[in-house]
Amino acid sequence: MQTQLLINGELVNGAGEELPVINPATGEDICRVAEASFEQVEAATRTSEEAFESFRHTSPSERAALLLQIADIIEANQDTLAELESLDVGKPWPSARDDEFPLTIDTFRFFAGAARTMTGSAAGEYVAGHTSMIRRDAVGPVAAIAPWNYPLMMAAWKLAAPIAAGCTVVLKPSEITPLSTLKLAELLQGVLPKGVLNVIHGRGHSIGDQLINSPQMEAITVTGSPATGMAAMRAAGQQIRHVHLELGGKAPVIVFDDADLDAVAETIRYGSFFNAGQDCAQPCRVLVQDGVYDKLVAAVEAQVKEIRIGAPEAEGTEMGPIVSALQRDRVAGFVERARGTAEIVTGGAAGEGAGFFYLPTVVANVDNAAEIAREEVFGPVVTLSRFSDADEAVQIANNGRYGLASSVWTRDVGRAMSMTSRLRYGFTWVNTHGVGTPEMPWAAMKGSGTGCDMSVYGLDAYTSIRHVMVAH
Ligand code: NAD
Repeated sequence: MQTQLLINGELVNGAGEELPVINPATGEDICRVAEASFEQVEAATRTSEEAFESFRHTSPSERAALLLQIADIIEANQDTLAELESLDVGKPWPSARDDEFPLTIDTFRFFAGAARTMTGSAAGEYVAGHTSMIRRDAVGPVAAIAPWNYPLMMAAWKLAAPIAAGCTVVLKPSEITPLSTLKLAELLQGVLPKGVLNVIHGRGHSIGDQLINSPQMEAITVTGSPATGMAAMRAAGQQIRHVHLELGGKAPVIVFDDADLDAVAETIRYGSFFNAGQDCAQPCRVLVQDGVYDKLVAAVEAQVKEIRIGAPEAEGTEMGPIVSALQRDRVAGFVERARGTAEIVTGGAAGEGAGFFYLPTVVANVDNAAEIAREEVFGPVVTLSRFSDADEAVQIANNGRYGLASSVWTRDVGRAMSMTSRLRYGFTWVNTHGVGTPEMPWAAMKGSGTGCDMSVYGLDAYTSIRHVMVAH
């Protein structure tokens, strides 16, 4: 098991406290990984500042070549990396590899191309006798903080865009799921110039906090909870930094009475319970027009009761455990508090065994103002509630703090277009939910964050627009 940190091109043991990494399917320790010490975080941030001075002058084609090389390395090692991901997060096998690695790998390939496509206004004489031109340059060293739900895919989103832009990175994976990222650090040790990528390990409130407050960092990028996003905003406020946040979500699934209900129910089965529902875009808040409400509840119940829950490596497992006991208890708490006022159609209890299993859960007749309808549960739970017309659906969906993913289900193209223009979400799918591609932004609005990951717009967080003017 690779448990070392990557600092200035060297693999080193963490000099801080040892933290257990737990197998969520059994509750047992997989290994222990020592956190970075205060001095090691300092060394990582210092070296990323030093490396930036040369890395920012590499050409886009040189950076593209590095990104393509990284993609090839991940592809060649995807079995090992995905096995670690399955062990550490409880993801079913072979889904951990087959459903996640294509996008992880393609993110690096996309940004290899994107590195060479930066654009700006045309150079020209906007003032007589002077030629103006736009430059788009790397902002500087980036403090990157990743979550536990898709550790390596989120690491890819946090690495590919800044490297494409010419930034250096200090990356901190989640302290509960560091294994695949530490393995990646080992695989990339001799690939990137020293100091361009540093990987440290540790808890958020100590090591993460030191990283985002380090004076060498010019940008902070976080994928995580709103609380961590706020910590990043505060850190940026102290020293004036670029901040890019991809935070929580509470995706509404707005189902009109002309929708293909079987397709909705199937999407909920495969989309809402994928990764045990621990997904920021999870289709979790199903809003159903009155006329088809009962029919959709029955269709969803039938689909969800079919989901096979079990050990990640067991044949046919569709859904594994929740990542930690803490998260499982959090999920259970939401369901228990909803019990008095809503109907638990299926699930609503822990699964069998010593692991952190929780049954796929459907909660119906949920009041649109209820806690479980508004707060991010981040587990295998979907709610269903009613609306009467498009205006009410928009009002319910937009009346919350989150603004990440959403979907609209209708056969009426005009209604779909009208709804997509009225929803205040970073992305809206029509008659599908959850399909991502590196060419398109994974974008956030409102309390779900700022800016986006993926797409050419993903470079915005890591580049600064500059104006150069030459007097003739
Ligand atoms: P989290 O915020 O608890 O942890 C995320 C990371 O932040 C971890 O590495 C953690 O150590 C670090 N951290 C925590 N406190 C910190 C602090 N004060 N300073 C610096 N770093 C700190 O989130 P999580 O529980 O790992 O992940 C789940 C959350 O992530 C959910 O809210 C989910 O919606 C969100 N998420 C969002 C996206 C997206 O693209 N928008 C994708 C995946 C997950």
